[in-house]
Amino acid sequence: MDVTIRPATEADVAFLTDVVVEATFHQGRLPDDFDEADFRQGFGEWTAEQVRGELDGSVTSVVQVDGVDAGRLRVVRRDGLVEIAGLQLLPEQQSRGVGRAVVSQVVAQARADGLPVELGVEKDSPRARAFWERCGFRYVGEDEGEHRLRLATAGTSAPTVTPVLVAELLVEDGRMPVYVHVIDHPEARVLVDTGLTQLHPLVADMDPRLVPASEQAGLDPAAIDVVVNTHLHFDHCGGNHLFAGKPIHVQRQELDDARTLDDHTIREWVDVDGAHYVPVDGTLELLPGITLVPAPGHTRGSQVVVVETEAGRVVIAGDTAVFHGELDEPRTEGQRVVRALEQAEVWLSHAHEPWRPRGDPPG
Ligand SMILES: [Zn+2]
Repeated sequence: MDVTIRPATEADVAFLTDVVVEATFHQGRLPDDFDEADFRQGFGEWTAEQVRGELDGSVTSVVQVDGVDAGRLRVVRRDGLVEIAGLQLLPEQQSRGVGRAVVSQVVAQARADGLPVELGVEKDSPRARAFWERCGFRYVGEDEGEHRLRLATAGTSAPTVTPVLVAELLVEDGRMPVYVHVIDHPEARVLVDTGLTQLHPLVADMDPRLVPASEQAGLDPAAIDVVVNTHLHFDHCGGNHLFAGKPIHVQRQELDDARTLDDHTIREWVDVDGAHYVPVDGTLELLPGITLVPAPGHTRGSQVVVVETEAGRVVIAGDTAVFHGELDEPRTEGQRVVRALEQAEVWLSHAHEPWRPRGDPPG
């Protein structure tokens, strides 16, 4: 099978319109009140503008399989990235590797140019998102209707940090969020803490409300390669059971305390079937640009995760501080360790926003 991409001309406008109508119909995603004639007219005019080169940075192509027209590709270059703005195949060309072949050609070109590749996936298209994740794309954010996915290429290999809300707990004066953090690194996807995934009588008084997995964008256990626990309190290790066989890095002191001290955690959530703990003694470079650093205080075995991102050094600090104010006036050894790291921002497990050092912005 020979998959090629050729620039479209005005002679292709009708075919490109057919592809979009047929692919959308095949997915069962045409709205009930779909006016086909009206759509074809508008889409055709827009496509004609594209192929005449009237839209900045936009290139529309015909995908061919063994010399036969098979699909549509639209790529837009803007703001230092390559956006895959559209990829549709005729139904009979789907599920046979054509899409992946097209993507790898786009990615190869972007890599040669040192640019990352991005795209938006509609939130009601989990199958489309799964396709892009198989191609190596990772969740980096979202707006109202779409998840944004990105593939880092050479030259843009810095890791990114994404907070994911997994639960809320009842505390004295309201609801406290529980976040975990996903680090997308070119070599691996790392999950820092696993939140809680079920209820337990020991913490019933905190009335945990769990965020449904379907709303936890970017937290598919199958896509996580490495787990880190900042510490093993119940709301940080409650999802460890989802990661059987994957390495879970935790400070040795913390693991010992969780197994032996009374009232440290919900112990049955720690030593679950298949859990593969990697005890860490002190500082450890987990991957290039990702370092585990002991930060005792909240528990004596707590650690933080230091990530060198494109936007500067980011610290994922677990419960080293629960409230931002504690980092303004550090008291524990762990809080002083975090402050000494001179980071751009600090993510805490129970805060919606990252903490940032005060003072004049640089420059
Ligand atoms: Zn804790």
